[in-house]
Amino acid sequence: MNQTHLKRNCPACNSESNTFFAEKNGFNILKCAMCGTLFVSNPPADTADIYGNNYFWGAAEGFGYVDYDTDKAPMKKVFEDCVKQISEMNTGRTGKLLDIGAATGYFMTLAEKLGWKSEGVEIGKEAAEAGRKKGLKMTTGTIHDLKSPEKFDAVTMFDVVEHMKDTRSDLKKARALLKEGGSLVIITPDAGSFYARLLKKRWHLLVPPEHLSYFTRRGLTQLLNETGFDVVQMKAPGKSFTLEYILHTLLRWQKLRLWKILLNLVNKFPRLAKVRLSVNFGDNMLVLAKAKSDL
Ligand SMILES: [Zn+2]
Repeated sequence: MNQTHLKRNCPACNSESNTFFAEKNGFNILKCAMCGTLFVSNPPADTADIYGNNYFWGAAEGFGYVDYDTDKAPMKKVFEDCVKQISEMNTGRTGKLLDIGAATGYFMTLAEKLGWKSEGVEIGKEAAEAGRKKGLKMTTGTIHDLKSPEKFDAVTMFDVVEHMKDTRSDLKKARALLKEGGSLVIITPDAGSFYARLLKKRWHLLVPPEHLSYFTRRGLTQLLNETGFDVVQMKAPGKSFTLEYILHTLLRWQKLRLWKILLNLVNKFPRLAKVRLSVNFGDNMLVLAKAKSDL
């Protein structure tokens, strides 16, 4: 491979020292020798066109979401727990939150139901428009496009920092938009997890150019410390699927009569339909951090 590809510094710890990890989808992925973070050597100049209609609906390009709102349903419990935790960190009160990479506003709607005021930023034009049609306050663009004189009590970034071209600069901006002691919640793939290390190139979350940075707990902790945050907690969130959701998904993938029959049967017993099954490969991390004081 071309040595010039090795010039990019680690997006987490800024180290210049790295090795070639894998080539995938025509992109070279490097591994930081200091913190283990994986990153694309040559990110595309403009990533906004990845996040058009096909990304949030239809998955026609072979990646993205089949239907964003439906596909996020297994995260409902994780998202609700996040809202509870940020309320606790906000001395038990609700407040104002900013959701980065808000997509069509699934999390914002949920947070508002739990008493928070929300504002969102979304790079995908169609997704942002869908959010506005739901009555949500949504800016099209990145965190740097936000024109808000107000400060927030919490910033959330679910499945988004791995997409950013310059995560350090986006996190600095997030810190600037937070009140002192405000909370930041991140969910992102964990490149240091057992599953990721086991699967290497075949890890299903290794998808450039959609995902550009794959942090480790060590790398992300350092990046957060350097951008004005203290990490409060890091854990692996588990998705939980209802039986009804699983059958719906199977029916969508394979139009088999069997799934239809089972789905109809299960729906006759609402309590059975709502039975939840947890799945946790441990290859995502949920990070809760607090904005350091300005001193
Ligand atoms: Zn690093």
